[in-house]
Amino acid sequence: MKGPEPLIFELSSPGRKAYSLPASDVPEKDIRSLIPGGFLREGEPDLPEVSEVDVVRHYTRLSQLNHGVDIGFYPLGSCTMKYSPKVNEWAARLPGFAWLHPYQPEELVQGALQLMYELQQYLAEIGGVDKVSLQPAAGAHGELTGLLIIRAYHRHRGELGRDKIIVPDSAHGTNPASAAMTGCRIVEVKSDSRGGVDVGELEKVLDERVAALMLTNPNTLGLFDENIVRIARMVHDKGGLLYYDGANANAIMGYSRPGDMGFDVVHFNLHKTFSTPHGGGGPGSGPVGVKEKLIPFLPVPTVGFDGERYFLEYDRPLTIGQMKAFYGNFGVAVKAYAYIRALGAEGLKRVSENAVLNANYVMRRLLEWYDLPYDRHCKHEFVVNPRRIKDRTGVKTLDIAKRLLDYGVHPPTVYFPLIVDEALMIEPTETESQEALDYFVEALGKIAEEAERDPEKVKTAPHTTPVGRLDEAGAARRPVLRWRRGA
Ligand SMILES: *Cc1c(COP(=O)(O)O)cnc(C)c1O
Repeated sequence: MKGPEPLIFELSSPGRKAYSLPASDVPEKDIRSLIPGGFLREGEPDLPEVSEVDVVRHYTRLSQLNHGVDIGFYPLGSCTMKYSPKVNEWAARLPGFAWLHPYQPEELVQGALQLMYELQQYLAEIGGVDKVSLQPAAGAHGELTGLLIIRAYHRHRGELGRDKIIVPDSAHGTNPASAAMTGCRIVEVKSDSRGGVDVGELEKVLDERVAALMLTNPNTLGLFDENIVRIARMVHDKGGLLYYDGANANAIMGYSRPGDMGFDVVHFNLHKTFSTPHGGGGPGSGPVGVKEKLIPFLPVPTVGFDGERYFLEYDRPLTIGQMKAFYGNFGVAVKAYAYIRALGAEGLKRVSENAVLNANYVMRRLLEWYDLPYDRHCKHEFVVNPRRIKDRTGVKTLDIAKRLLDYGVHPPTVYFPLIVDEALMIEPTETESQEALDYFVEALGKIAEEAERDPEKVKTAPHTTPVGRLDEAGAARRPVLRWRRGA
């Protein structure tokens, strides 16, 4: 069978309709007197003319042109595209949660407040911090929130000169971007030969102007920083604070806690680690947790409990303010809560164990064809590159990623982190079977062999997808987001 044809996008046929409405009983002159002239449509709107079944088939077919974790393996490094149990979607859709209104009086929403309160507590426990805000809507938003808290803390102590944020060269792009939004200067620090923060380089940039060091641990190479306790001490000795980018929490749950490593502020990506599917632009959540001394600066409201009732806490005079309308993306919080309750402490620990085991399994098997720039055990993800393949055949990482699409697999993250040439950043996650992992390894192995035998085939991939190589810069800069007749 042939693949879906992108050409049959245009389905409009004059006069075809997906509705039948009774004739309007409002006289035309009444309409004219009610609606100001400039707003009145004179002709028919220029919309596709299609039947209901055309619409249903059109959108169903479009949904099938996309790869998703419900269709196949999705090892996009740093993104934790793991399978999220559907039962948690069911929980978020329960009418008692889904139909709440944020202005309902507290006594009528005690259940929802209890859920938020307990989720705050669970995340605080997982992160080793003292109090959590569920407000931020994403990881990057959590970073901004956390850095504003750090800025407020320094200002409150009269330390107005602390305007420097240190970010390692392996950091996710949102880290320096969030730091820039707080008006701080960004100072990059290099990684050492083992992939961690170069402590000697860090020493050189640490001074009384440091507001914070931002770090994810394990970092984007999937490597746990062996010097983290020492790094934390060095930053604290200069009066700076430590920010933990918790997007990689999938690697460490139940094994280590950022709060214990010395971090003062932590964010979580509920849409990576805690059962909200993502990648389609849907709502996310990036709760932020802090150590005791930073609680006064948290956004308002948080949820409190006086032993009898749950309530929204607004009384926080030093707060940085409100970071999002109402209380955060509540539906995402419900899913995280259901996930954490279902797994329990032991279950979360096993999530991380299996994520790390799967990553090390895939990494070791790939070394038959691919190269490992930092030869260490990884955590939940790792970075390899096709150094030998490229030297011998000219086939590059991008070609390999595109060819993987022909094998029905979403490619890994490519060309990131920037410190690895031709990087392939792979995060298998804990939700894949050994068969799925083996299929992926063998596909990458076959592509390596294809590169030797028939490099053109790899360089011109993909060959089986509805569209081939896209002009990605054009798609980002000149997006076509609207249907226009004949366009
Ligand atoms: C995904 C990610 C972020 C940003 O999180 P968003 O929710 O996408 O804003 C930050 N750091 C790392 C390491 C990430 O993987």
